[in-house]
Amino acid sequence: YAAKRLHHGHAVYDPGFEQNRQTQLALLSDLRNAVAENQFVVCYQPKVRMKDGEIDAAEALVRWRHPERGWIPPNDFIPFAEQTGRLRAITQWVIEDVLERAVQWAREGIVLTVSVNVGMSDAEDAAFVDFVEDALIRLQADPARLCLEITETGGMSRQLELMGNLERLRRLGVKLSIDDFGTGYSSFAYLAQMPVHELKIDRSFVQALDFKFENVSIVRSIIELGHILGLQVVAEGVETESAWQALAIMGCDEAQGYLVAKPMPAEDFLRWYLATPLLPYTPPDMSIYDT
Ligand code: C2E
Ligand code: MG
Ligand code: MG
Ligand code: MG
Repeated sequence: YAAKRLHHGHAVYDPGFEQNRQTQLALLSDLRNAVAENQFVVCYQPKVRMKDGEIDAAEALVRWRHPERGWIPPNDFIPFAEQTGRLRAITQWVIEDVLERAVQWAREGIVLTVSVNVGMSDAEDAAFVDFVEDALIRLQADPARLCLEITETGGMSRQLELMGNLERLRRLGVKLSIDDFGTGYSSFAYLAQMPVHELKIDRSFVQALDFKFENVSIVRSIIELGHILGLQVVAEGVETESAWQALAIMGCDEAQGYLVAKPMPAEDFLRWYLATPLLPYTPPDMSIYDT
């Protein structure tokens, strides 16, 4: 405490940080058993086609159900797992769980593309592509119903490997998506080279649509850029009907967010999906602008 006062905020001893470090160390050792002990749960959040309200896809989002700490959100352990080399086991578990679910849904006549988030450390590793290929065959899953979402972070160290792996995944028939677009470091030239199908606008831009005017221009530019490159454009974090309307007018293809539904465990998601016909949020009638 003395140290803290002496250094005017540049604390040498910070009990909060110390505790945080201990928590992290404890979590790290707990992570080792989490996969084996089945402590992860995959939730599903619907994605809706804006032009007709059809629910045609869902994003798989993992949560850690810790025996003592309760529910831990992915942002509290995924980056940490990636830094400590423990992401791969989680990614593989999630992909298998999702593919089993998708195969079951397909048998029941439910046509959904399911997205799985993968870390850059996964996407850069050829062994990860081997795993995906093997899992698709082993579980007899339709590759066209699987989409992998990759976040373009600054941590991209092996661009050539990444491009080669994405190309291989594409040839397998798997869809690819760039997540959180607008927050990373990738250039337009680089984006044009990426063999992806979809671009997701980061929710910070989408959420600010309602109150920050310049975001309208940013979002419109991202949608246009995506379309110029032949990509499907998805808005994440759609929370209000006015954001939905603005995105619809701007020609955004898909919407995902609390306005439609929050992520739900598989059984709840399926019940919600079966009970929800086309969504009522349809684009406004634009013919009044025709002259
Ligand atoms: P993401 O892939 O960008 O996923 C979207 C996040 O936004 C999810 O948070 C989702 O619950 C949240 N979200 C969706 N709609 C709304 C909305 O309308 N309002 C607000 N405020 N939030 C909304 P979540 O589930 O906490 O996941 C956070 C991040 O963790 C994900 O961001 C993704 O990067 C990562 N993640 C989740 N599951 C996995 C996984 O299985 N593997 C990997 N590598 N990363 C994962
Ligand atoms: Mg995602
Ligand atoms: Mg995202
Ligand atoms: Mg995001």
